[in-house]
Amino acid sequence: MISPEEALRQVLAHTPRLEAVEAPVPEALGAVLAEPVASDMDLPPFNKSAMDGYAARAADLTHLPTELAVTENVPAGAVPTRPVEPGACARIMTGAPVPQGADTVVMVEDTEPAGDGRVRILRAGPAGRNVCVRGEDVRRGETVLEAGHRVRPAEAGLLASVGRERVRVFRRPRAAVLATGDELVPVSATPGPGQIRNANAWSLAACCRRAGIPRDDLGVARDTESDLHARLADGLSRDILLVSGGVSVGVWDLVPKVFEDLGVHVRFATVRQKPGKPTVFATHERGIVFGLPGNPVSTLVSFRLYVEAAIRTMMGDPAPVTPTVAATLAEGVFVRGKRRRYLPATLRREGDEWTVRPVPTHGSADLVAFCRADALAPLAPGEHAAGESVEAVPMER
Ligand code: AMP
Ligand code: MG
Repeated sequence: MISPEEALRQVLAHTPRLEAVEAPVPEALGAVLAEPVASDMDLPPFNKSAMDGYAARAADLTHLPTELAVTENVPAGAVPTRPVEPGACARIMTGAPVPQGADTVVMVEDTEPAGDGRVRILRAGPAGRNVCVRGEDVRRGETVLEAGHRVRPAEAGLLASVGRERVRVFRRPRAAVLATGDELVPVSATPGPGQIRNANAWSLAACCRRAGIPRDDLGVARDTESDLHARLADGLSRDILLVSGGVSVGVWDLVPKVFEDLGVHVRFATVRQKPGKPTVFATHERGIVFGLPGNPVSTLVSFRLYVEAAIRTMMGDPAPVTPTVAATLAEGVFVRGKRRRYLPATLRREGDEWTVRPVPTHGSADLVAFCRADALAPLAPGEHAAGESVEAVPMER
């Protein structure tokens, strides 16, 4: 039995980064850049107005109010036809090029019409106000994004701005989800005596979708060596095989033996934590395998703690582990046994600090309680007083 830290360390150490592929930028959302990206132009590409108003010469605006002749109208997308001479200005829209001669834009709210093609300037800023200078964000040829940077909506916009339709990113892993257990029936069925619905097939499918990776459903393996063997062998062709159930020490728990038969290197099989003790991590030539405990809450906890980090590692993320949140424990808790508890909890901002409050639960099968949680509170065995500091593991809200 190893500690959760050691388990995470093993996952990070033995999970390969996948190869780089080229993808259209909109499809690269969530992926990590495998190449640095340089700009093909200055940004902004021209001196640009940040406001609707009047492009003027700051030297004309030292004594206010003053009147200027409006010599031109420059909407966005237009090009000014003449420079702004002393005593004159150009009507200008946000995003339009600032004409030669002008060095400031007075926003329309600080002006009023003066009739006869003139405008009265009531208030104005110094030279440079409301003018975005060509190249101030980035120069042509300069790197705007380094390799290892994750593509979020902002990056998608920046890639568009520098003319990139496609980009090289690390490939997303394809997962396979295999549920195991003689007791499992499909969601559409009414469970008979001793049977339960296959909750994990759906929760793990949802986990994969949230992580932004494709997944194949390998159905349910019955608790026989032959069925497990066939379906696991199929699953090993995917980058990540997620096996639910069958990994604890029961009569029907045959998965570890089958892994061995298939040439899969089991790196660890038990972690000193609750829930999630029987979590298996294994590697083979083409990918990695997680054996997740069958209890629905345990599966989700192990996914959050280990599988997420593995997925991000495969996707080339240089920081694959989501940071914990320093929080204060809201109430006293006694943790029995020798394993670290990961209590389902709520994480809330209360006053100046984050407070983590355990959610009452009946245990590792209690999905009802788990749905009320948005964090895990890791607590060592022993007594914990209210007010203690805890590194909460945030989950999706
Ligand atoms: P196991 O890890 O196979 O020993 O299963 C532990 C517990 O989780 C048992 O109560 C199982 O019935 C339950 N379980 C296993 N697989 C699933 C599943 N796919 N969906 C819901 N519960 C499951
Ligand atoms: Mg089972």
